[in-house]
Amino acid sequence: MKLVKTKMFKGIIHCETGLHIGGSSDEIEIGGVDMTVIKHPVNGEPYIPGSSLKGKMRSSLERVKGIDNRGEPCGCGLETCMVCRIFGPHRNTRHQLGPTRIIVRDANLNGKSRKEMQKHLQERGIMFFEKKTENIIDRAKGMALHPRTMERVPMDTDFDLEIVLQVYDMDNEAQLVDTVKEGLTWIEKTYLGKGGSRGSGKVTFNDLTLDGQPFSLA
Ligand SMILES: [Zn+2]
Repeated sequence: MKLVKTKMFKGIIHCETGLHIGGSSDEIEIGGVDMTVIKHPVNGEPYIPGSSLKGKMRSSLERVKGIDNRGEPCGCGLETCMVCRIFGPHRNTRHQLGPTRIIVRDANLNGKSRKEMQKHLQERGIMFFEKKTENIIDRAKGMALHPRTMERVPMDTDFDLEIVLQVYDMDNEAQLVDTVKEGLTWIEKTYLGKGGSRGSGKVTFNDLTLDGQPFSLA
């Protein structure tokens, strides 16, 4: 098995709504935010961990392909399983598929969004985040329980997307590429992060290129 080439996907992850990808949710900040977004430990900026993006692509693909592994990621390790081939067979050490093909980088703030956040920081002394308070309804009693405040990255924030795909001699390159595109398409159709069924996490992938060539999702 030989590594033939790498393919590079680049683009912008654009937040159409507020986005919440959790930091340590049990950490309560001053101001009563009990669900904070994950932030870079050095510069305090929000980012989208590669693992979140990768996990969501994988679970979306498993759902559309009807893969059911009792709530666990697919670990079949079959030659024909594009999910196992690209993302790695879950907890399966006896497969012949070779290394995980996909590398999803952490998506950092895009230059424009970084400038906006920095401006906000200088002018008001705070990072710009949105706070969304949700009431949890006790249906039996018909009353609202303790409200939770969820911090979100505000809409219109842009992050830089970078995905590397490793193509081996045993792979069908077009099939790998199409599966990655399909995974991104399903994230656009659903959501990223927490609270997707309640309005958070709508994203679009803009200015996409594959090895420098522009393309758009189906
Ligand atoms: Zn599989």
